[in-house]
Amino acid sequence: MKIICIGRNYAKHIEELANEKPKNPVIFLKPDSAILAKKQPFFIPPFSNEIHYEVEILIKINKVGKYIDQKFAHKYYDEIGLGIDFTARDVQADCKEKGLPWEKAKAFDGSAVIGNFVAKENLGDLENLNFSLQKNETIVQNGNTNTMLWKIDDLIAYVSQYFTLKKGDVIFTGTPAGVGKVKENDILTGRIENQQFFSIKIK
Ligand code: ZN
Repeated sequence: MKIICIGRNYAKHIEELANEKPKNPVIFLKPDSAILAKKQPFFIPPFSNEIHYEVEILIKINKVGKYIDQKFAHKYYDEIGLGIDFTARDVQADCKEKGLPWEKAKAFDGSAVIGNFVAKENLGDLENLNFSLQKNETIVQNGNTNTMLWKIDDLIAYVSQYFTLKKGDVIFTGTPAGVGKVKENDILTGRIENQQFFSIKIK
């Protein structure tokens, strides 16, 4: 399987990182080795002093597809989840400055937290989902899918022009505002509406 990530999909997050608003979705990939094993803590890697959490809605692809039309995109996923796109922000800043690819900052081992998935029918309106990330006792990120610049079906149509989607692939749909740094012993808990999708410890 592969992990396809979308960058800059929420206007307020673009502003907080002082990025330019893109004309098309920003896409990058993570290898399957980036997946944090279930129930394992996240270990801060030695090459970064600034690991940021980014909570994101996930889509699990249910069948193979290429050049998927936006109006048929809903047939390519049955389940929605929640995860974290861990980012070595200091490494990413260096990559951006030098115009280099982002993999070292975004695709390292453990950088993809993939929480639980639920059937999309059980979530109601996918274009109006509240989701959040709690760090210890504080809610640090609050998002709603109605503020996505590109909706789920738009993303599937766009991404599938470049990459054949296969059963089991996961799309990370971008993070809302509020990204920040983790430190040892933090506990990160992700929710869609009031339902918990993951809880992980930082080491
Ligand atoms: Zn992200």
